[in-house]
Amino acid sequence: MLSKLQTVEVPVAGMDCAECAAHVHKAICALPGVAAANVLLASEKAIIQLDPAQVQLPAIYKAVEGAGYSVPAAAEAAAAREDGPALSGQFYRKLMAVFGLVFGAVLFVVVVGEWLGVFEQLTQRVPFAVGLLLVIATGWPIFHNVIRAALRGQVLSHTLMSLGVLAALAVGQWATAAVVVFFMRVGDYAEKLTSEGARRAVKELAALAPQTARVERDGVEQEMPIGAVAVGETVVVRPGEKIPVDGSVIGGQATVDQAAITGESMPVEVGPGAEVYAATLAQLGSIRVRVTRVGGDTTFGQVVRLVEQAETHRAGVQRFADKFSAWYLPIVGTIALLTFVLRQDPLATAAVLVVACSCSIALATPIAMLASIGAGAKRGVLIKGGKYLETLARADVVLIDKTGTLTLGQPQITEIGTFNGLSQENVLALAAAAERYSEHPLAEAVRSAARSRSLQLAEPQEFKAIPGMGVRAVVGGKTVIVGNARLLAESMPGFHAPPGGELPGKTVLYVAQDGEVAGALSAEDTLRGEVPAALAQLRALGIRHVELLTGDHEQAAAGLAQPLGVAWRANLLPADKIAIVKEYQAQGHVVVMVGDGVNDAPALAQADVGIAMGRGADIAVAAAHVTLLRDDWSLVPQVLQIAQRTMGVVKLNLGFTAVYNVVGLTLAALGFLPPIFAAAAQSLPDLAMLANSARLIRQR
Ligand code: ADP
Ligand code: MG
Repeated sequence: MLSKLQTVEVPVAGMDCAECAAHVHKAICALPGVAAANVLLASEKAIIQLDPAQVQLPAIYKAVEGAGYSVPAAAEAAAAREDGPALSGQFYRKLMAVFGLVFGAVLFVVVVGEWLGVFEQLTQRVPFAVGLLLVIATGWPIFHNVIRAALRGQVLSHTLMSLGVLAALAVGQWATAAVVVFFMRVGDYAEKLTSEGARRAVKELAALAPQTARVERDGVEQEMPIGAVAVGETVVVRPGEKIPVDGSVIGGQATVDQAAITGESMPVEVGPGAEVYAATLAQLGSIRVRVTRVGGDTTFGQVVRLVEQAETHRAGVQRFADKFSAWYLPIVGTIALLTFVLRQDPLATAAVLVVACSCSIALATPIAMLASIGAGAKRGVLIKGGKYLETLARADVVLIDKTGTLTLGQPQITEIGTFNGLSQENVLALAAAAERYSEHPLAEAVRSAARSRSLQLAEPQEFKAIPGMGVRAVVGGKTVIVGNARLLAESMPGFHAPPGGELPGKTVLYVAQDGEVAGALSAEDTLRGEVPAALAQLRALGIRHVELLTGDHEQAAAGLAQPLGVAWRANLLPADKIAIVKEYQAQGHVVVMVGDGVNDAPALAQADVGIAMGRGADIAVAAAHVTLLRDDWSLVPQVLQIAQRTMGVVKLNLGFTAVYNVVGLTLAALGFLPPIFAAAAQSLPDLAMLANSARLIRQR
């Protein structure tokens, strides 16, 4: 294809079940020029890849509306134009809701009273036409939907219930019909409230980003919308303001609260050279920032996008719920038909149609997932899909990378040994030059040791990182190798690590120049303080095996692992780490791998769930399924707990629905459940399930 594809987002309102999202998807994909579409039910939008030469937004809006849903941007704009009427409309709706509630409750009591014989045929004294009018008036929004869907050839769960209403009307019981309608609307309302609650967490997150920036142009400060700011420009941030972009500080000092990204509200000090992130708050002091990323490209923008798109990675249980709803309607329809034909009892038939609970089972699961993902994002945990929550809840093995993950990742060079009459400065300068372009924490340790001795660093002519082993570079025409004993043994035949050189808990970096050992650096990294408590919590949450995997030598691994009481394997290359993950998976374990994305990204991707330590705010660890936006081990057991709680809620929902439906349908079909009770009973699972899922919105 010659033309370039473009990605657009279109808000879609009115979808309340997976089938609805599927309809919208189908309608959009049918348009010529649409390459792919992803319809997000809970975030109420479609993300569409299209060819702008062939299809434009108005055509998409039309397709969405044609499928029976609306594009709220247009509706909102219309509402904004008529502020007054919209407000009074809301008041009117509230009034109707209160009136409906009172009326419905009274009617319910009356009908039950009649059934028990407490009242004498009260409702029959009301003319049937009046009752019919009442039913139609209260149920209109539902009937309207059902009829529209029927015209498109779709059957909704409300379709069956509407047939039940019809059956009740057919035998003259308008009051029963009205009560059914009343409960349908209560269920609808509850559904709306909970799904809005879950979406709000995500929307609140997005709303944290400032919409304008104060940009310095031609020596003047100008306030302008974020969209008009370009990379490379300078923005000014005053105390108490949110930083509008990602960038580096070029002037001033400030304390910044980065909670929006990391969930941690302890402010950090920033000054010239420091990186700052959009949506974080400058508390004291003002700074000038050179823009490196704007809008959706910022770390914060990526977090928001990942959270919104988390819905795409659907959990298996979610697909199960969808399948369940697809089978459910035909089954209920058949039971109703059989009841009608075999028992010739319209009231029992109505009860069957009514007792069938609506599609809230399909909605309750994504709401639970979304609520948890939103709750996680607020605490600095980015979960990339419900799928991973489901897997995490089943995990029993945790594998941990060492450098940068279990340790702080800020090793210090504590000793320098030299050979062949070189000075410590010579060795350090050589090593630091070779490490100049390495991103490994050990490389940073070497560079900072050189910096603290004010050594001049040569520019390497060639540089190559050897993952899990070290680096090879050409410095001043000489080949320099810095790395572990394994790397030296491989590159220099006859090399043997000197005995006693490998100390518990310390990493030894050998430095060689043109095939001869020049020296050795001993690096010490500190265990993260919160690790022991976090490991204890992991065990309490059902993790049965924890193992440290490292490319470092045996002694270094043992020195860390033994006091923690975890197993360890040393001298591993990145490929060995993948093999170990696979080994556990082959034994039927569900494996969580915790790493920092340096040399362990493939193992993170191979694991059932890869958790990346975020290192400040680097969420670019694409291989990970969960990213911790703050370097804090206590978040690991927390994610596990969120996952277990979510799945607990989801399973309770599913189990409850299953039992409810079997019992309810049986009683109704056998005629033991009068339609009036069926109506009350049908909203029970909806309300219970939604309340259950809603618990996750407010979890701490
Ligand atoms: P871990 O598995 O503990 O996270 P890595 O796989 O990143 O560690 O590295 C394993 C070992 O390889 C380190 O302990 C170190 O000896 C050596 N190494 C890796 N990268 C470098 C580097 N840039 N400079 C020196 N040594 C390195
Ligand atoms: Mg590592």
